[in-house]
Amino acid sequence: MIADPAAMSAWSEAARGRGERIALVPTMGALHAGHLSLLAEGRRRAQRLVLSIFVNPMQFGPQEDLAKYPRDLAGDLVQAASVGCDLAFVPEAAGVYGPGFQTAIEVREVSQGLCGARRPGHFVGVATVVCKFFNIVQPHVALFGEKDFQQLAVIRRMVTDLNLPVEIVGLPTVREPDGLALSSRNAYLSVADRQRARALFAGLSAAKALADKGEGRASVLLDAATAEIAARVDRIDYLEVRAADDLKPLDRIDRPAVMLVAAFVGGTRLIDNLRL
Ligand code: AMP
Repeated sequence: MIADPAAMSAWSEAARGRGERIALVPTMGALHAGHLSLLAEGRRRAQRLVLSIFVNPMQFGPQEDLAKYPRDLAGDLVQAASVGCDLAFVPEAAGVYGPGFQTAIEVREVSQGLCGARRPGHFVGVATVVCKFFNIVQPHVALFGEKDFQQLAVIRRMVTDLNLPVEIVGLPTVREPDGLALSSRNAYLSVADRQRARALFAGLSAAKALADKGEGRASVLLDAATAEIAARVDRIDYLEVRAADDLKPLDRIDRPAVMLVAAFVGGTRLIDNLRL
């Protein structure tokens, strides 16, 4: 494990000097099988596999769960080693955001709406920290989950726009047997809320079933999803159909599309999405 960003960079420079490819999987820890799927794919794509664990204060709003976000460093290190991870980069906030820190990266259009609208500043925090970690770790390839679909789009856009020399790989969402997307925040759910949380995937699946039969009107697909979700969650934060590549709103499914949802179950805000 390395905490010091300068030591992390020195490790990567030595690996690069030996001609080794480096894969990076950025996370906030509390690892689950979704994170492990990213690590396993990173293992296949590079000689060196780095996991970063950093609960990034810059991407949390003042009313959000930064203080109570689940943390299990010891357990994470065991799980990471089990899939062949070479190194965990676990910096302190003070090491990432030094004295006088004042720079931010804003990926404008893809960050609009959805989580970008409900969590002001969230994607500026994400883009800034991911860019910093790319500079510190210097990976050849970095792996992210489609679970955070808008985040993946933001990172792809940033890498293209800023000519960052890293390949971005997006991987499918890993789910529980009943369809619930794995998330570190699922740990917040009571037993009853865990049951209700199935509604998100049930709703997305109902919409996808209609789309598979040829229904192209977003409004009809949204009605089908709403019927499943609204009755079981406390509040739908957003439910939208967007283009899969640039996340532009769609009225008709005339190009690759994705339905995205955020909803509150108990006090927990869950997100999910499904390609249509
Ligand atoms: P996190 O630490 O959970 O915010 O996310 C770290 C990385 O894991 C991100 O790229 C997420 O998209 C990804 N991830 C989170 N949950 C899942 C999941 N259920 N399946 C696949 N990837 C995931």
